[in-house]
Amino acid sequence: MGAGGRMSDSSEETKDLLKRVPIEPPFSLSDLKKAIPAHCFERSVIRSSYYVVHDLIVTYVFYFLANTYIPSLPSPLAYLAWPVYWFCQASILTGLWVIGHECGHHAFSEYQWVDDTVGFILHSFLFTPYFSWKYSHRNHHANTNSIDNDEVYIPKRKSKVKWYSKILNNPPGRVFTLVFRFTLGFPLYLLTNISGKKYGRFANHFDPLSPIFTDRERIQVLVSDLGLLGVFYAIKLLVAAKGFAWVTSMYLIPALGVHVFFVIITYLHHTHLSFVGIW
Ligand SMILES: [Zn+2]
Repeated sequence: MGAGGRMSDSSEETKDLLKRVPIEPPFSLSDLKKAIPAHCFERSVIRSSYYVVHDLIVTYVFYFLANTYIPSLPSPLAYLAWPVYWFCQASILTGLWVIGHECGHHAFSEYQWVDDTVGFILHSFLFTPYFSWKYSHRNHHANTNSIDNDEVYIPKRKSKVKWYSKILNNPPGRVFTLVFRFTLGFPLYLLTNISGKKYGRFANHFDPLSPIFTDRERIQVLVSDLGLLGVFYAIKLLVAAKGFAWVTSMYLIPALGVHVFFVIITYLHHTHLSFVGIW
């Protein structure tokens, strides 16, 4: 059979996967909510805060170990130790970013102002405009997988597949696409709405007048921008005190690593052929 046999096997598998996609929802959202025990909807500010404190302590431990021991390592070991630190720190910071995401869904506590305050602080320090992304992300949840109304990870009509997608549809092309997506995907989405919903004009997450947002949301988009400006100013002071290399290796690389991890996670959530999005 050779390669031809494998191809037909994989196309059979593809058909099986597609068969599992329900045409009509098998149950409604309210059915799903009714099936979940009531206590699962209780939001404990103490338990949620524990996760924040836990992750901050682990972040500090990683920082302390890197700051204390890596500079004294001989150079070949230091070159190995820095990427290990970046990976570990970006992993735990991704946990904090996800708590910020939960705040955006009002899942942190019973108090909206607590959720927004915690989410605003966590996301600003991880270079995410909290309110701006919270609102576009809410639209994504409300319209997941809708060809016409989803905000991001929008399924494409066959006729809309771009010419370069066909050129890149091979192993090196896919590696290039994935690396591009994982590194530049989130910043370019925030800045240019790349691969996002088509609004008929330029849209980004930092412009309070952007068509992504409603009139009621525009002030908070501005607040998100001010949060990021505050963080940039703090980084400027930190660079003046500790130097650019120190700030880059201790903070900037792990914080930008969060974007890489976050895009990998969401990409995997939106890729499976029988995908029904929940993120
Ligand atoms: Zn979400």
